[in-house]
Amino acid sequence: MNDDWSVVYTGYDPEQEPLREALCTLGNGYFATRGAAEETSADNVHYPGTYVAGGYDRLVSRVGDRDVVNEDLVNFPNWLPVSFRVAEDDWFGPSACEVDDLVQTLDLKSGLLTRSFTIRDTTYGAIHIVTERFVSMRDSHLAAIRWSVTPQQTLDRFQVRSALDGDVSNWGVARYRELRGDHIEVTELLDPAEDVICLRSRTRQAPLEVSICARQRIALDEERIGEHGAVYKRKSAIEWLSPRLSVEAGRTLRFEKVISLHTSRDPALGDLLQDGLEELARAPGFDALLARHRRSWAQLWTRFDVRVTVDPSADLEPHSMQRILRLHTFHLLQTSSPNSRSLDISVPARGWTGESYRGHIFWDEAYILPFYVSRAPEMARSLLLYRYRRLDEARAAATAAGYEGAMFPWQSGSSGREETQVIHLNPKSGAWDPDHSHLQRHVNAAIALDVWRYVQSSGDLTFLEDYGAEMLIEIARFWASMCTWNADTERFEIHGVMGPDEYHEAYPGADDGGLRNNVYTNVMAVWCMKQAQQALALLPQSSADRLRRRHALSDEETNRWSEIQTAMTLPITSKGLLEQFEGYDELEELDWDGYRAKYGNIGRMDRILKAEGDSPNRYKLSKQADLCMLFYFLSPPMLREMLASLGYELTSDLIRKTILYYRDRTSHGSTMSHLVFGAILAPYEPDAAWDHYVQALCSDINDVQGGTTPEGIHTAVMAGTVRHVMERMAGISVQGERLHIQPSLPAAVQQIECRQRVLGTALGIRVTKDAVTIDVPPGAHQGVSAVIWGESFSADAGDHLKVPFPHET
Ligand code: BGC
Repeated sequence: MNDDWSVVYTGYDPEQEPLREALCTLGNGYFATRGAAEETSADNVHYPGTYVAGGYDRLVSRVGDRDVVNEDLVNFPNWLPVSFRVAEDDWFGPSACEVDDLVQTLDLKSGLLTRSFTIRDTTYGAIHIVTERFVSMRDSHLAAIRWSVTPQQTLDRFQVRSALDGDVSNWGVARYRELRGDHIEVTELLDPAEDVICLRSRTRQAPLEVSICARQRIALDEERIGEHGAVYKRKSAIEWLSPRLSVEAGRTLRFEKVISLHTSRDPALGDLLQDGLEELARAPGFDALLARHRRSWAQLWTRFDVRVTVDPSADLEPHSMQRILRLHTFHLLQTSSPNSRSLDISVPARGWTGESYRGHIFWDEAYILPFYVSRAPEMARSLLLYRYRRLDEARAAATAAGYEGAMFPWQSGSSGREETQVIHLNPKSGAWDPDHSHLQRHVNAAIALDVWRYVQSSGDLTFLEDYGAEMLIEIARFWASMCTWNADTERFEIHGVMGPDEYHEAYPGADDGGLRNNVYTNVMAVWCMKQAQQALALLPQSSADRLRRRHALSDEETNRWSEIQTAMTLPITSKGLLEQFEGYDELEELDWDGYRAKYGNIGRMDRILKAEGDSPNRYKLSKQADLCMLFYFLSPPMLREMLASLGYELTSDLIRKTILYYRDRTSHGSTMSHLVFGAILAPYEPDAAWDHYVQALCSDINDVQGGTTPEGIHTAVMAGTVRHVMERMAGISVQGERLHIQPSLPAAVQQIECRQRVLGTALGIRVTKDAVTIDVPPGAHQGVSAVIWGESFSADAGDHLKVPFPHET
């Protein structure tokens, strides 16, 4: 097996286990389960969480003298438990006996998690065990486990135990443990056949039922034996015990458990339990299920694999760049896959791999969506509909806050209402601090950006007409209603917001949260108004008129949008740079070296300062790119043009100075920050840019933030690092019907190969330092027109177009 297709861990290391469990999560875009070993249960090391895509529930907890409402991504009943014993010994568990030669392999190509190890027991000698597990990408309701047990000495009275455990709660994130996590009630435990057990559960508040049925089978070598187990029901768990078996020395006992999981939200649902049992009855054995699961993954990899050739002397250790990119692609496809298209979900910041951020959806979508747009636009479209379905809730939120249009929440879960916490535990000080982060209204710009990028790249004007334009209009309306007129400056202003830099929540000493004229927010608001107008111009006149009438959009209103595009406030520093927000220039400089020397890792400077009784509000310091996000999301010509209309001339020199100024004042407390600086610094400081990119790339696999990845992977940085290779290094973009390729390979990267969709055709693209090659599939319904290194080319179905690097003569 090519090593770049697998993540391998050797030996058991309790400290590393939580990280491995998150990274080894298996899912299929419908449900997911962390990579905890089957014989473990939730404790301070292990956490076998199972999450249903979009499976949220709300509970009220008492904190001090207040009620705090939280909507969590629910940890559903655990379908994993498998163990065995010999005679009357203890069941095999993490601390039961000595385990040697443990190798755990996550095979990314086929979504298979295996462990191989040997138990050494003074009475029974060595027992070799191989465990395998997958969550089927082909059959979204099914998952399977197989244990193969080969003893060195004959084992008499050997018994397997398999269970479904509903005695679970949301316990995965230590700092949330003071809040309620008892979301699950088990409503039924059943054993409808001798080899089948079922558990039915429901969440406390949300009307969401989940049933899991498990079928157990045992074979000795290839011969099936003894399925007539005994069943025990406890309060919230059901257990199946095999008959006592004799396993002769050198023979292999195979135990397999196939489960079906259904929820009351499934489309085409009849009876929850009956559907689960029927699906299980139809399911073939482990090998046949695995074969079709592998085929589904193979199809996804054909579309999504990005192959990189890296200069061997510059490749990353111990994990190659290729392997990490595949790990990232793997997790994104497990979060949202073709199985998710009928679901009402978007991609949460931490995937379905842990409970941090409670499975909520943030502006991170703006990093994530283009990952799907470029290769599977239909998947991106279905994710955008998650937002569209919550447009009414966003309209209500805008009205309630005194605005017009639609105001999407900073954190979104089931209904689209604001799920951001009002207080947040600072693990450094143990104090519950007020949380103003819901003031990050810029999430609305991220949604508009995603709508626009999807439409631009896919050419799906039907989507624009049916959904996208309405979202753009309502978002533009919201921004316009947030703008106030300053008669002194004769400019529009936006007050009471936070930018992406979450360290500045308020002015020093102020009681109320929010800042004035955050440049990122102001410029993106202008962009949204401009784009809403462009969207209408893109549609046939009759459709645009219909939309205008339906949404009562008058000329007067759009004229005001146009006015704002020429008169939005842009605060400027004393050095003539764009100022992150009004007043930033007067803040104190932080003693960066002093803090680095004192604390080492100062990524979370906010927590450090607050624990010291100080406040990040006082300093020129950012958690992540804020104003600099403009250089990441918008092309330089577009940004220049917009700022010119606002009277600010953005020269190349000013772009460089601005990026360097803020880079020097950023602590990179979010994994996304390195990604952004890795991209925007590339033209000015390529080595520093590469270092930032590598940090972003390694952030999850090495848990660089020291403890956040075990609570859930970071989907934005995962998507962003893969996109970076395609969009920044290979320089691929689609504008209208045209493919543009403007490569900028870093020194370490020699070749990139990937697929890109242009108007329904999946093109094969290869970029090296010397040439760009495009393969148009023979059956393509149309050719492609491309601009490569600034020159126009076209290719027809079946063509192989090779364009050499234009060396100057
Ligand atoms: C970042 C936000 C992000 C959120 C979810 C925070 O740490 O600062 O920008 O949206 O995590 O990933």
